[in-house]
Amino acid sequence: MKELKDFADEINKCSKCGLCQSVCPVYKITGNDCAVSKGKFIMLEGVLKGDLKLNKNIEKYLDMCMRCGKCKDFCPSNIDVCEIFNTAKHQYAKDTFQGKFEKFLQSKAVFGNLIKFFKIFHCFNNKKKLSQNHNDKKTKLIYFKGCVNEIFPTSANALKKIFKNLDTEIIEKDFDCCGLPFLSSGNLERFEEVKKHNLEQLDCEYDYILTDCASCESTLKSYGELKVINAAEFLAMQNIKFKFKKPLKVTFHKPCHLENINFIKKLFEKCENIEYIEMKDFDACCGFAGTFVVKNPKLSLEISKQKALNIINTKADYVLTACPACILGIKEGFLALGKKNTKLPKISNIIDFLAQADNITQ
Ligand code: SF4
Ligand code: SF4
Repeated sequence: MKELKDFADEINKCSKCGLCQSVCPVYKITGNDCAVSKGKFIMLEGVLKGDLKLNKNIEKYLDMCMRCGKCKDFCPSNIDVCEIFNTAKHQYAKDTFQGKFEKFLQSKAVFGNLIKFFKIFHCFNNKKKLSQNHNDKKTKLIYFKGCVNEIFPTSANALKKIFKNLDTEIIEKDFDCCGLPFLSSGNLERFEEVKKHNLEQLDCEYDYILTDCASCESTLKSYGELKVINAAEFLAMQNIKFKFKKPLKVTFHKPCHLENINFIKKLFEKCENIEYIEMKDFDACCGFAGTFVVKNPKLSLEISKQKALNIINTKADYVLTACPACILGIKEGFLALGKKNTKLPKISNIIDFLAQADNITQ
């Protein structure tokens, strides 16, 4: 397992140019140098030189980051900021009471069993199996549901409704969490544990790992050379049509972890009676960002409110996205704006929305 000192060269690559400030959503609100990569690297350089202690104060700033990766995409030195911040969190958290308590909550015995409980509960309540008949000619898709879908399994049923129209076989496996919450809280041991478990589940032939959660998608891709695809992106590549009787206006919020966005317009072209309206800053964060919302509730709310305003200004009937956590972030924004007399768009995962089409044909 890597330690902070293993990233000394990467951290030194930061030229302090400050370009990350122009894209960091947290810096834009706080104006605080320590909230963005540049400031965090200055502090971590101090830690590596022995001038500063990796203490609670520095941890506070490590937590003041949504791991959205926007600064990484913009950084001329191409520094993998998230990996460095997660390693620093790991180094700090492993010896503190709070770190040990978080580890306990995220352990297999607590978090793992909670997800297991929901899996068993939904198995009893939903006798419909997602898996379809085995057929060698079909495109084989291993479905990675993700934790939120295990607890509120709406998209899983929507997925089944859509994919039965395609020449695909959907395979279900006993996956654990993708590990993103563990990574961002510095619980790297638990991350390695779930990664190992999930990789062991890939014991059959498949064409793609399919997911409807952008966060799961990006974390699975970080495991190594896996062919992971978002369900909406897969649909955009298929010969499929979604016919809606009633004309609807929709807008789309791009989750930070959704790498590819080019498929969105292509997918809406397959929808009859759907008008797509691009919102201002459609790729700006929703503010939720896992534990960020718990550790920085006020900041999270400010970011969510801005997102909610941009959505409302489109006057769309629906705001669609591809990540269950973003749905919560957008809901948080609508609530915080408190616009009682304004007609708010419905919020939906894009897969759930497409499944509502009056007719789905090839
Ligand atoms: S953009 Fe990259 S190199 Fe420039 S200050 Fe930010 S982290 Fe450092
Ligand atoms: S990952 Fe996102 S929130 Fe964190 S420093 Fe970079 S731009 Fe800011």
